Amino acid sequence: MAAIELSGLTKVYPGGVKALDALDLEIPDGEFFALLGPSGCGKTTLLRTIAGLETATGGAVVIGGRDVTGVQPGGRDVAMVFQDYALFPHMDVTDNIAYPLRIKKVAKDARRDKAAEVGARLGLDHLMDRRPGQLSGGQQQRVALARVMATQAQAFLFDEPLSNLDARLRLEARTFLKKLQRELGVTTVFVTHDQAEALAMADRMAVMEAGHIRQIGTPAEVFQRPANTFVAGFIGSTPMNLLDGAVRGDTLEVAGHKVAVPASAGGLLSDGEKIVYGVRPEYMSYSAGPVDGALGGKVAIVENLGASHLVTLDVNDVTVQAVVPEGSEPAVGDEGYATPRRDRALVYRDG
Ligand code: ADP
Ligand code: MG
Repeated sequence: MAAIELSGLTKVYPGGVKALDALDLEIPDGEFFALLGPSGCGKTTLLRTIAGLETATGGAVVIGGRDVTGVQPGGRDVAMVFQDYALFPHMDVTDNIAYPLRIKKVAKDARRDKAAEVGARLGLDHLMDRRPGQLSGGQQQRVALARVMATQAQAFLFDEPLSNLDARLRLEARTFLKKLQRELGVTTVFVTHDQAEALAMADRMAVMEAGHIRQIGTPAEVFQRPANTFVAGFIGSTPMNLLDGAVRGDTLEVAGHKVAVPASAGGLLSDGEKIVYGVRPEYMSYSAGPVDGALGGKVAIVENLGASHLVTLDVNDVTVQAVVPEGSEPAVGDEGYATPRRDRALVYRDG
């Protein structure tokens, strides 16, 4: 097991796409680290560069204190699980799991024993003689995991390993994988474009955009204190309200209303400055009648979220959303007042 350190890591593909732009990242030994970002931001490239499947254009990869920048994939002692699992269709489960051990020239009996042990651990013991085509998506995913575990690598690299599973299996696999990583304690980099998955699974996470890391932190830090409007807009099951505003003396003007300066921004603002005011729909209190400091308007849409509703208000032609508990949701066309929580609202200057 080992820490992973990246410094100034850059990857420019032939043709000129800069997929990684001087990334710095330190992942301590044993951490479950999620790498989150939209499609095309460089997640797979980063993982493949750590694994040695891509050659870095610049910078260094250090695994377990050893500089492996120029080392071939086989010499890096990391194991990667791909999005499509990359199982061998003509091999049974045992041989698929044992394959990396065969490459390492481990004796046949020892290979079978190891495959049986790991397979049992992942609940595959009754499926060891089947081929991938005779398994469900969830079972195939477990075989891919088992193959990685059998190698006893210093680090696991996962590239969107749950994205081919249906919604319910995906939730199960999330819990299962997280538990397994805890037990094994192997440093893990888990790539996903699903913010909920990253928040649920990670010890720490990075949010990437266009070859850059925009924020690194615990899920709680990234959720509650997104560092910029990109991260703010990307994280959360309902997108954060990001509203253009301006500083007016000791208050803010947002969507034609006066709102209090958020606790986190006190003292930093100058009169007249343009800002972006951010507050999550979950951090609004909602009422049907006028309230001081509220963003008041007309209810345009009411969406059922199950135990709550997402109410979209038209506030002087600006869209403002609030999550409203079950039972107190308004009807379309009603007046509505959403009051941001001052301790949860944020001010951005990068909008
Ligand atoms: P992600 O995994 O976040 O979707 P990728 O790492 O696959 O992103 O891609 C990052 C960028 O690099 C994209 O613009 C993509 O088109 C480009 N890219 C990826 N692989 C190659 C390649 N082999 N050759 C050229 N460009 C590539
Ligand atoms: Mg990818």
